[in-house]
This record gives sequence, structure tokens and C-alpha cells, in this order.
Amino acid sequence: MDLDNYRDKYNKSFNFNSELRKCLCGSDKYKKLFSYDRYLLRNKIVVCKKCGLIFANPILKKDYLENFYKSDFYRKLYNLELDNNKKDIFSKEGDNSNNSFNFLKKFINERRQINILEVGSGHNTNLIHFKKIGNLYAVDYSNESKKLAKKMGITFHQGGVEVIKKFNLNFDCIILSHVIEHFHDFKNDIREIIKFSNQNTLFYIEVPSMDLKYNLDQLQNAHNFYFTKNTLIFHLNKLGLDCIEHGIASNIHQYGIFKKGSTKQDNSLSNEYNKIIKIHKKFCYEFYWLYLVNFYFRKFIKLIIGEKLTILIKKILKKQRNK
Ligand SMILES: [Zn+2]
Repeated sequence: MDLDNYRDKYNKSFNFNSELRKCLCGSDKYKKLFSYDRYLLRNKIVVCKKCGLIFANPILKKDYLENFYKSDFYRKLYNLELDNNKKDIFSKEGDNSNNSFNFLKKFINERRQINILEVGSGHNTNLIHFKKIGNLYAVDYSNESKKLAKKMGITFHQGGVEVIKKFNLNFDCIILSHVIEHFHDFKNDIREIIKFSNQNTLFYIEVPSMDLKYNLDQLQNAHNFYFTKNTLIFHLNKLGLDCIEHGIASNIHQYGIFKKGSTKQDNSLSNEYNKIIKIHKKFCYEFYWLYLVNFYFRKFIKLIIGEKLTILIKKILKKQRNK
């Protein structure tokens, strides 16, 4: 299936396959920011007026999303350079694969073997860096991921967070790299994962950053949440995870290393909404302004030098670019 066909089908059935919900903070007051994602798939993105969290609303229903991930069409869709015959559906995803190891290693005591779990492991190349120091465990919806795990000597269960219990273990490290922004039932999914940890467990969580990059490029229909540093730390805090380190990963993403702490009850993100609205206005202004300038500038040039000459110049420029 190509993208155009997929888009038509997807957009027509979007209302049927999606459902409305409240923000993670419980509020149902929000403002719309975007209506489509970067592939022009329907995707309404809102910002919560209470805590400033940016999220998709409505979101795709759970069974629809699970089938989407299982089919591996998801990765093909988001990796357009990939042709249909290519075997490695995870191509390009491994580029950032040493982030989790690099940021976690200073916290890890290498004198003993540790148990490391990755949820949503995809290509499993995050985990492979830990091979010398630990036992590797992974869960993912994808069939391809399952096959790769077998080859790589990783103990694997196919599915989402609900299959972690099959390992019957507590883990020393839990990696969630570009995963929690996909969670359908965020609070339950995080709480379920925390069950398989102890007081010293390190959680490595990496997600896109709306502080570092706020534009259409960030938007994709499978993402349910778009975090800033503040909203990431705030909402994980509320679920009992304390941030011990936060930073930039691969230039445009953010990571946090978390440990189990006490659940926070405060609602101190009062300024985040205003901050997001300010950033959004700036983005819209620049986006439309540039578009209009470009549009009218071309018209103006055409008017001055004439249509035939414009076409000739275009042809010459095109030839030069193709050389
Ligand atoms: Zn909220």
C-alpha cells in the first residue's frame, strides 16, 4: 500500500477509529494547535490549558494502534526512503542507538551482571550495547523485532507492557526510547512498568523535545504525546518517578534518567500553557509569513521580467542543479 492510498483510507475512517479523552492531569480544557500530521494524516493536536501538555485528541483506538504496530507498515510509512523490497525495516532507526548506554553507564556498577529490559525495542540495537554487562530482555509488538531478538540472543516477548510480567523478573535498567509518546493509556502503562523495578532501578526515557524543535516535522499520527522538559518531568513525577538527570539526545531529542521516588501531588505547571501558546504563535507567524513572502516574491519577479524569461531561468537553474 502506498502513502496516498493509505492517507485516503486513514482520513476517511479517522472518526470511526479514534476517541476523545482528557489530559493526563485530568483537565478537559484544551486549545487546538494542529489538525494534520507531517504526512497530512488527520491528527488533531491540542494543548492542555491547565498543565500545558501537548497531546493528540482524539486519539486512535487501542486495537487500531496495536494492529498498526504489529503490521510493521508503521515503520515503512515513516521511513519513506525504504523501498518495499528492502529487508531491514528498521533502517535508520539505529543511528541513535548508543544514547541509552552512553548516558546510563556512569550510573551502572559493572562488577555484577545486571538485567536490562527494553520496552518497544524495535531493532534491539539500544540493548546490544549492554551485552557485556548484562542479561537482555525485550518486548515489542513487531514480528520483525521478534525475529531479530532471537538472532541477537535477547529474551523476547511479543506485545506491549502487558507481557513484561511473563519474564517474572525485576530489572536493574529499563529503557523506554521513543516509546512513551506512543502510549495509549499513559498512566497505567507507566505504573505497570514500574511494578518490575526496585528502589535502585534506572529508567532511561528518551522522547522528542518540543522545546528544541517546534514544527510540523514533529507531528506523526502514532504519537499521542509531545513533551517539553517540564511536562515530561511533571507527568512522570506524578506517577512516582524522580528525574536524576535530564539532557539533550541526538541534538533534537531529550532524555531523562529516572528513579522510583515519591508520588507528587502538586500542580505547579501553571505557566507552561502560556509558554506553548507563545511558541505556537511564533511558529505560525514564521510559517505563514515565509510562505506568503515566497509566493508574492515569485509573482513580483514574474511581473518584472516576464513569464517566458522566468520559465527560461527556471530551466537553466534546474539543469544546473541536476549536473
Ligand atoms: Zn493537563
